[in-house]
Amino acid sequence: MTHLIADPEILVIGCGPAGSAAAALAADRGYAVLAVDAAVFPRDKTCGDGLTPRAMAQLGKLGVGDAIGDGYRSNGLKLHGFGGHITAAWPESAAFPPIGSAMRRSRLDALLAAGAAARDGVQMACGFKAAEVTVTGGAVSGVTLLPHSPRPETQLPGSPVPGAVVPGPGSPPVTVRPKYVIVADGVRSPVGKKLGRIWHREQVFGTAARAYAATGRAAEPWIHSHLELTDDTGTVHPGYGWIFPLGGEDGHVNIGCGALSTADRPAGVNTTALLRGYAARCSADWRLGELTATTSALLPMGGAVSNVAGDNWMLIGDAAACVNPLNGEGIDYALETAELAVRLLDGQPGAGFTGSWPALLGATYGRAFTLARLLARALTHPRFLPLTGPLAMRGPQAQPVMSTAARLMGNLVDEADRDIVSRVWRAAGRGAVALTGGRQLWDTT
Ligand SMILES: Cc1cc2nc3c(=O)[nH]c(=O)nc-3n(C[C@H](O)[C@H](O)[C@H](O)COP(=O)(O)OP(=O)(O)OC[C@H]3O[C@@H](n4cnc5c(N)ncnc54)[C@H](O)[C@@H]3O)c2cc1C
Repeated sequence: MTHLIADPEILVIGCGPAGSAAAALAADRGYAVLAVDAAVFPRDKTCGDGLTPRAMAQLGKLGVGDAIGDGYRSNGLKLHGFGGHITAAWPESAAFPPIGSAMRRSRLDALLAAGAAARDGVQMACGFKAAEVTVTGGAVSGVTLLPHSPRPETQLPGSPVPGAVVPGPGSPPVTVRPKYVIVADGVRSPVGKKLGRIWHREQVFGTAARAYAATGRAAEPWIHSHLELTDDTGTVHPGYGWIFPLGGEDGHVNIGCGALSTADRPAGVNTTALLRGYAARCSADWRLGELTATTSALLPMGGAVSNVAGDNWMLIGDAAACVNPLNGEGIDYALETAELAVRLLDGQPGAGFTGSWPALLGATYGRAFTLARLLARALTHPRFLPLTGPLAMRGPQAQPVMSTAARLMGNLVDEADRDIVSRVWRAAGRGAVALTGGRQLWDTT
């Protein structure tokens, strides 16, 4: 077996979208990177597979834009529920292209990992789990990597990432001593926990389930959201159902549903059962085949974790709970936080990230995430959606109101946007931050 670099400048832990993007961008800036993942790609990841214009912008920067979704592109969102149907095209924005896509995570993540592994300066190791972390002062001084056999149901057939190191039979544990560590180990963030990451369950979080189904409408250029998410008794739950076509080449949709919860107002629903009912209702319209690969997961959101950095380490992506509370998307923030982290590291090497990383996350996402958390919390009130849903989705005001809502729910507003909606959204974000005392949850406790 090839030896792993024992003293990389940067160790990236986790090679989902966040970690692979961080490894690629760091290598592009001249760093020597060791990127490790416990899984061997291609592997499954519970996700809706939807790529909004925010994600498409970042994928373009990584040089993989053309390979996304075999060319499948979405024009925007069709919203359904409470007796109404609205079509909301992706908005014009200074920063994001007005196109989206969708691609199975088994393929997207393998593509991104291969892109990182192909960079000069990246050594990728798959099937290695970061198991032990030694901290000296506030800095990670050593990480022990154990050869790991992932659960068979998460491993998919396909070519491994070219050039990636995999453990051989009886490979011993390896301890590496990196200068910097970027932790991109996903929603459960086992390494983040060892470093003191705390998840604030009193904040809004998601529970979601997804499955795949063959369809006659896989090439349809619109993604669909059903805002009136009911269970078998007809009770409306805070959240939404989605159908994301995966393009004609794939021939399937990703279908799923997610519900919002807080510790004091738990959703109290079985999302897998909710998904079965939702799929049954959509089946005739979408000519759906059997549901396959049904999985579910929890989703901390809106930056609701603390202790995301230390002297030489930063948490990015889901590990830093960078997921939009209003729609559950996080691939775009995974890719963006990778870029932010590498830029910070490049700009102030050796200066320590304990304060600067949460401050940068707060400056970039604090207003939008704080506002979104407050709005998402309102949605968890049992009477909120049944009262406001019909008002928003029916009548002459529905089209402009819900087109704007779709833009804001997707956080498709950039600092450079000057239109009135962007200005009001940014002002509301400043108000939300002021209302919560100006402190971000990412801060070190
Ligand atoms: C049901 C559901 C639907 C969703 N739908 C969408 C959607 O449609 N669009 C969207 O943008 N977002 C969606 N999201 C969110 C999205 O999946 C995440 O935000 C995204 O995967 C974050 O990427 P990441 O790289 O931070 O983490 P991950 O993609 O989870 O990658 C983490 C990686 O770390 C590895 N790892 C973990 N522990 C270790 C360790 N100890 N050592 C080494 N490696 C380790 C894992 O094997 C994994 O490969 C959805 C989430 C759920 C649950």
